[in-house]
Amino acid sequence: MDTRNRRGYFGEFGGRFVPETLVPALEELERAYEHIKGDPAFWEEFNALGRDYIGRPTPLYHARRLSEYIGGAQVLLKREDLCHTGAHKINNALGQGLLARRMGKQRVVAETGAGQHGVATAAACALLDLECVVFMGSVDMERQSPNVRRMRLLGAEVRPVEAGSATLKEAISEALRDWVTHVADTYYLLGSVVGPHPYPTLVRDFQAVIGREAREQVMSAYGRLPDRIVACVGGGSNAMGIFYPFLDAPVPLIGVEAAGKGLDADTHSATLVKGRPGVLHGTRSYLLQDAHGQIEPTHSIAPGLDYPGVGPEHSFLRNTGRVQYVAVDDAGALESFRLLSRLEGILPALEPSHATFHAMSLAREMPKEGLVLVNLSGRGDKDIGIVAEALGL
Ligand SMILES: *Cc1c(COP(=O)(O)O)cnc(C)c1O
Repeated sequence: MDTRNRRGYFGEFGGRFVPETLVPALEELERAYEHIKGDPAFWEEFNALGRDYIGRPTPLYHARRLSEYIGGAQVLLKREDLCHTGAHKINNALGQGLLARRMGKQRVVAETGAGQHGVATAAACALLDLECVVFMGSVDMERQSPNVRRMRLLGAEVRPVEAGSATLKEAISEALRDWVTHVADTYYLLGSVVGPHPYPTLVRDFQAVIGREAREQVMSAYGRLPDRIVACVGGGSNAMGIFYPFLDAPVPLIGVEAAGKGLDADTHSATLVKGRPGVLHGTRSYLLQDAHGQIEPTHSIAPGLDYPGVGPEHSFLRNTGRVQYVAVDDAGALESFRLLSRLEGILPALEPSHATFHAMSLAREMPKEGLVLVNLSGRGDKDIGIVAEALGL
């Protein structure tokens, strides 16, 4: 079947692979989203809170000392690390929180791995007076205990998930299960451009504010488009957010996955570089799976990249060749974390440190007038424990 123009598909990827019981809920969500998409009042509220609550527009920052150190092209950082709650995730949490309220839902369920999406969702729910339940693997709860406390302080209930590896994959399954049983009053607030239609589309649209701002900011500062745009890819929301408004422009786009401890064993999470198409969490996309279709264990030093799936639109962009996907390992991420900290006074999150490392290697081969734009998706406060241990501090 030609799926290119089918609703909810990106080429052969995407779709809605869910139990029958969830179909009406997804259709209700799709209708609500189609409705608010054309409603200027919704976007006025989204933009006003973006400005006053999140702190948008986030700056476009020319990393001069880092660029000098590299000795090639100029590195520009889109400072999503300066967003309220410390990462780009709040853009989506706020957008979907507003949508939930519009739909008359009083209860929000979410899943979280590292806890960043849980914190962003808990904050948005506090702001919008919505009840908030966050499912989190018990292993993750132990590893990310400061974020568990943050969520509780923000008024959310954090429910431990003990099944399987007790991490993000199981937390998503559990959140979906809760949603099925409480569909009438509950909104499922998904954290990345993954899951069944319409989530990949609506999360991308809420995150596209990053790319729209960046495009304007680069044009007004340099009078031209950047020469490369680089972003890390876990589920893929910060990357889709910065890429989307540039898809029609002649700018090479590069997504950076986690090569972990190496691409040969089960010690990475480079889904697009090493995976094969399959179905997980309601969508058809590239996956890390073995010969029998079993999901493989993943690893990355960056908790937010440690996921065996990826958004379906990225799978499409990979296959069409519009976006190039590469992988950077733990050591590379640590190296660029150290450099950005020392040279620019910015402690970056470990996730975008993968992107910065690759941006540096691109910049090295380019002339001084070149411009490499990196989405600095979050700040590194959450990662100082991991980094200090890895660097022996
Ligand atoms: C969660 C997270 C990511 C990965 O999620 P995407 O959906 O791929 O953006 C990247 N960076 C930071 C800072 C995160 O918190």
